[in-house]
Amino acid sequence: MHARAKLSSTYDRLRRAISIQYLLAFLPAITLGAYWLGGEGALVAVALILPALLSISEGFSTPTLHTPHDGITRLPLRSAVENALDRSLDAHSRSGLTTASIQLDLDDFHAIAERYDHSAAEQILLQASDRLLGVLRSNDVMARLDGGRFAIAVTPARRADLETLIQMGGRIQESVAVPFLVGNTNIYLTASVGFCLSSRLATQTGAAMLDAAECALQEAKLNGPGGVRAYSPEMKRKIRSQSALQEEVRAALETGEIQPWFQPQISTHTGEVTGFEALARWQHPTRGIINPSDFLPAIEQAGLSERLSEVILFHSLSALKQWDKTDFYLPSVGVNFSSDELRNPKLVEKIQWELDRFDIAAGRLNIEILESVVSGTDDDTIARNIKGLSQLGCGIDLDDFGTGHAAIANIRRFSVSRIKVDRSFVTKIDLDPEQNRMVSAILTMAERLELDTLAEGVESVGEHATLSQLGCGHVQGFGIGRPMPFSETVTWIEKHRTKIVQTPTISRKQG
Ligand code: C2E
Ligand code: CA
Ligand code: CA
Repeated sequence: MHARAKLSSTYDRLRRAISIQYLLAFLPAITLGAYWLGGEGALVAVALILPALLSISEGFSTPTLHTPHDGITRLPLRSAVENALDRSLDAHSRSGLTTASIQLDLDDFHAIAERYDHSAAEQILLQASDRLLGVLRSNDVMARLDGGRFAIAVTPARRADLETLIQMGGRIQESVAVPFLVGNTNIYLTASVGFCLSSRLATQTGAAMLDAAECALQEAKLNGPGGVRAYSPEMKRKIRSQSALQEEVRAALETGEIQPWFQPQISTHTGEVTGFEALARWQHPTRGIINPSDFLPAIEQAGLSERLSEVILFHSLSALKQWDKTDFYLPSVGVNFSSDELRNPKLVEKIQWELDRFDIAAGRLNIEILESVVSGTDDDTIARNIKGLSQLGCGIDLDDFGTGHAAIANIRRFSVSRIKVDRSFVTKIDLDPEQNRMVSAILTMAERLELDTLAEGVESVGEHATLSQLGCGHVQGFGIGRPMPFSETVTWIEKHRTKIVQTPTISRKQG
């Protein structure tokens, strides 16, 4: 099973058995024996040659009895890689060989360790270290750092260049991409990889090289999951400012600076407001309102996706409660869930608890899931969660439909209740026959599958009218209403109501 890990631990035990202390303890007996058997010549030979041999062999060996090991994987720790790099860099200055250091991180390892039990995380680490050792050369030194992070000292070679390292990174990622079987659940992971070539390093030490590889890893994670990056000196400055932003969003989530704004969704049949989509906004004390595209990446990198959806869900359900106190009925609120959050095995329980706490029927909460998440997943947990939420009674909105190639089988399997046609198909639908044909095809498919429909990004009266004629169920977009803070929603609804009373209804597609 963990053949290489076992082999290395057997090797360790053997080394321990013949370690220098034991041999030194027997040295007097060995020399005496040599004298009895071979006379003075043998005595001199053993007394001189044996210590010399021992010192040479200890000098070449890598981790010794005193090298601490990681308790789970039995791999050496960071210092072993640092020492190996120091030795390689030293040799490189004399021999012209180049070396490199790699750091890799199992993306989402922390989230998985939190969600499953302790032994699941250990099993993943063991399986991962075994697979990684399988793609390295026997002289490469690998250590486990904290969490799901590993560091590698690459054996010096004539051609340790960018291309070779990218290939190595690719092999590492492939080995991690095979699902990890824990209990009877397949857990899917990706790995981010950062590396540093000795030629890119200003300070030629093992410690500096490990730091540089770590810097490249952080950059890979920013572009991840599953990114690969080579170290360059400019990375350091950039990473420093990104870490500062992560700390800022963490605080903003707790102080209430990040809250949802609400964008109305209306029925094309009645013109009434049928729901609001909750869209995260950061009310920054000095920079004003910040849109999600500028802070969602920092939230994901800081591992705060779960916290964000807790905050947005809380405010969305509170908003429903507030609307219920007015004299109009607002059927639903839509909340966006990232794939990170959908991997939480306790998600259904958590949402059920929140709904109970607010005493709100599950049918009034629409869970918005990107089409790319549904199409790209064979992750059992995501599939179970979507199904569980639908069984709970929540609506499942397939977001950005048309951009993610979801198979019809998956739409059925995940019990999707509504398709949100992506803005890219809706723009100029009243003027562009090609757009019109595409949306007609999507709407026909939805009708056959008995799915409700909503068109996103409706900006003009012409687009609104065409969608209504084509039989699209709901519309949402700047042309109807922009996202607004909760405090403005009630006035907006009142104004909208007076408008629909005055507007004649648009005739709909027949049949
Ligand atoms: P989305 O879920 O597709 O949300 C619709 C986006 O389109 C929103 O951008 C909205 O302001 C914008 N939009 C609406 N109508 C129009 C229109 O007529 N024209 C144009 N040009 N744009 C329109 P926003 O608020 O910047 O959000 C961007 C994305 O960020 C969202 O796309 C969603 O994927 C993500 N997001 C927002 N809030 C959350 C959240 O709480 N959690 C998660 N996981 N993602 C969120
Ligand atoms: Ca959405
Ligand atoms: Ca969308």
